[in-house]
Formats: sequence, structure tokens, C-alpha cells
Amino acid sequence: MSSIYPATMRRLINELSKLPSIGEKSAGRLAYHLLTGDTSASNDLAEAIREAVERVSLCTVCYFISESPICPLCQDVRRAHDVLCVVEKPADVIALEKSGGFRGIYHVLHGVWSPLKGIGPEHTKISELLRRLQLDESTLAAERDPLKLPLQEVILATSTTVEGDATALYVAGLVEELGVKVTRIAQGIPKGGELEYADELTLNLSMEGRRSL
Ligand SMILES: [Zn+2]
Repeated sequence: MSSIYPATMRRLINELSKLPSIGEKSAGRLAYHLLTGDTSASNDLAEAIREAVERVSLCTVCYFISESPICPLCQDVRRAHDVLCVVEKPADVIALEKSGGFRGIYHVLHGVWSPLKGIGPEHTKISELLRRLQLDESTLAAERDPLKLPLQEVILATSTTVEGDATALYVAGLVEELGVKVTRIAQGIPKGGELEYADELTLNLSMEGRRSL
């Protein structure tokens, strides 16, 4: 990075370039814009980031992003609490919610099993999922009463990438051991596709076309 920039600007560029899909050039352009454009808007952005980082964490039940210990989706009594959809990341929950084709509850893994990248199942929220499924009625009653229903189905909606498929198979084996029906989204999502980028109709079709594993 050019040392012509002042140190504070270099730091800003350095931090921006750590963001997904932002290279050093884009980071430089963004920093320039933030420092020379509407500075009150830049201050608002800084404040929004600080406040969101402070307040937003993960739901203690489903691990979706939430400002409260249990997210609004988990607290919603109108949703089907006996159908649980397992996804890779929070953006997948947003995509499925936008599609309107799913009215159950979620579990966000925050990653997939990827041996080539050295990411094992232990680096995702798979054990949290199993713990959630294994909790006995009394524990659940204390935790989330009156929302608990015996689970009827776990839908594996990880991406149809190699890693997503491997993760789905791995989770399926563990969930089936607990005697819960497992299905996998299938038709509609192209092979190698990520849920986040699928259109709403495709998502609805893939949810409707899920099959038993
Ligand atoms: Zn939740």
C-alpha cells in the first residue's frame, strides 16, 4: 500500500480490504469516498457498524443473527416448530424467508464440512444441532415453552456443492440415529448452487421437491 497515504487512511484501507470481495484497489476507492465525500454519512456508517457489532449476536437456539437471546423466528408461535430446516449461513435464512415457501424453524450451521480447507464438522454448529434435537422434553419446556413440539422432519438445505452434499449426508446419518425423518432439498437448485443466490421460485420448488435421505 502506498506510504503516500496518511497512516490513519492506510489503516482504514487495510481494514476495508479484509472485507469479502474487497481488494486493495476497491478498499482505496472506498476509503477515499468515505473521507472526501459526505462526512456526516461516513460518521453514520461508523456509528451503524459500532452499534450493530455491539447489539447483534447469534440466537442461542437456531444461531441465526439476532438482537435478543432467542430470535423472532424461534419465538414465532405461528411457525411450524416441528419442521426444522438446516442451512449453511444466515443469508440462506433470509433467502428462504423471502421466498415464503417455508414456515418452519431453522438451524444455521455457519459453515460446511470442507476437508480440503481443513474445516471439520466440529467447526460448524452441527454438535449444537444434535444437542438441540437430543434435549429432552423437560429441558425444552424450561427453555422454550410453549413452542416445543416433537420434531417431525429435518430438512437439509445446505448448498448443492460437494461440501454442502457431504455435510448433508453427515448430518443425515446423525439425525437419523435419533429417529427423526430427514429430507434433502433437491430439484431446482442447480448442482453446485448456493441457496443465497437462487431465485424465489427455484427455492420454493426445491423445498417442495425435497426427498427422503
Ligand atoms: Zn432462533
